[in-house]
Amino acid sequence: IDKTAGYGSLLKERKKHIGRNLSISYRQPLKIVKGALQYLYDDRGNTFVDCVNNVSHVGHCHPTVVKAMQKQIAILNTNTRYLNDNITAYAKALIQTLPPKLSVCYFTNSGSEANDLAIRMSRHFTKQQDVIVLDHAYHGTTTVAMEMSPYKFDGKGGFAQKPYIHKAVSPDLYRGEFRYQHEDAGSKYAGSVKNIIEQLSAADKGVAAFICETLLGVGGQIPLPANYLKEVYSYVQAAGGICIADEVQVGFGRVGERFWGFELQDVEPDIVVLGKPIGNGHPLAAVIVTEEIAERFNNGMEYFNTYGGNPVSMTTGLSVLNVIKDESLQQHAKETGEHLLHLLRLLMDKYSIIGDVRGHGLFIGAELVRSRETKEPAVQEINEIVERMKEKGFLLSTDGPLYNVLKIKPPLVFNRIDATEMVAKLEEVLEEMNMDKV
Ligand code: PMP
Repeated sequence: IDKTAGYGSLLKERKKHIGRNLSISYRQPLKIVKGALQYLYDDRGNTFVDCVNNVSHVGHCHPTVVKAMQKQIAILNTNTRYLNDNITAYAKALIQTLPPKLSVCYFTNSGSEANDLAIRMSRHFTKQQDVIVLDHAYHGTTTVAMEMSPYKFDGKGGFAQKPYIHKAVSPDLYRGEFRYQHEDAGSKYAGSVKNIIEQLSAADKGVAAFICETLLGVGGQIPLPANYLKEVYSYVQAAGGICIADEVQVGFGRVGERFWGFELQDVEPDIVVLGKPIGNGHPLAAVIVTEEIAERFNNGMEYFNTYGGNPVSMTTGLSVLNVIKDESLQQHAKETGEHLLHLLRLLMDKYSIIGDVRGHGLFIGAELVRSRETKEPAVQEINEIVERMKEKGFLLSTDGPLYNVLKIKPPLVFNRIDATEMVAKLEEVLEEMNMDKV
């Protein structure tokens, strides 16, 4: 297998004709030509275990999903202004996974578009403009979603924070002001949202919405502290605001114990936003709201979305839900995730560079630091680790505000053997790099 031959002309053409602010993973780019469940294959005959793609939720090119799509696209694909069984069947199936108060669905083609719509509906419902977000969050790439994403507007090429967007402190138990050992950290962090609401109120303003992921993704693979959302939602709802749960990354059985991330916090959002995994790679996302929000939004202006809710997307969505059920993937995510977390914690006992291991089910982060005391982020080291893991056949990535969190969120079919092998390779890499022992 020739690992050195370049992709010179492909890269050159891409650079010339494809939008340039798009990064390519890895020093030596991969040309992936085929996917099957948790595996990806390049054009040189190499096989990789995909440890990071949470979009191919039930597995790359899952045969049941592929067949359902193929069958439907050969029969009909049109817009939603005709009666069709698929859209209602899918809406009913989705709603069954949610608390009864969430009962009306809007289908879109991306998580960004869905978050954008969720904010629009909140503003319409509350007649308020101001939105509270978490620091470092990412909610998408439309103009409104970017305004709600400190990860974007505070970053390179960013723009000034809009006066109607307010950043609450990220509830980070490893690095934040209130840490694991702090009893009541959830309440303390919720206080940041309370303060914002009080400041708004003092300025005679209300809250349209509070939006956050129910485990933080781009924010650093961070599970929320106990009681955090319970308190935040009570403050926001008392102020008349809408609580939006962005489940685009973490929902749909990934966290194992529960189907939705918000269930880990024992709360009921007013709007839930779904994306990525629900179409298993097909562009499908959704906004699910209460009857009251839907009724208020039905204000005479039509909400029509050319592709949203089309029969192929709906069939795809239904088949993904069925596969999760038929293959018990939520339970599988729980068991595999527990095994993986256990192995990573054993590795943390050996190597001081692993400062923290956290997660639920198959949504896991390992934060790498140069010193456990100073928590200096081990950025160069983590990048080297990701490169070396790729060479050993495991695709990983990094995330977090300091770019030092190893991000693990594989397709849910990722199994115990994959987890064991991945951690064994990670140990090999740490050994090769002469990382300090605890
Ligand atoms: N919300 C979250 C939490 C996300 O991670 C993303 C995408 N990374 C989005 C929204 C936007 O979704 P999309 O890329 O499908 O527009």
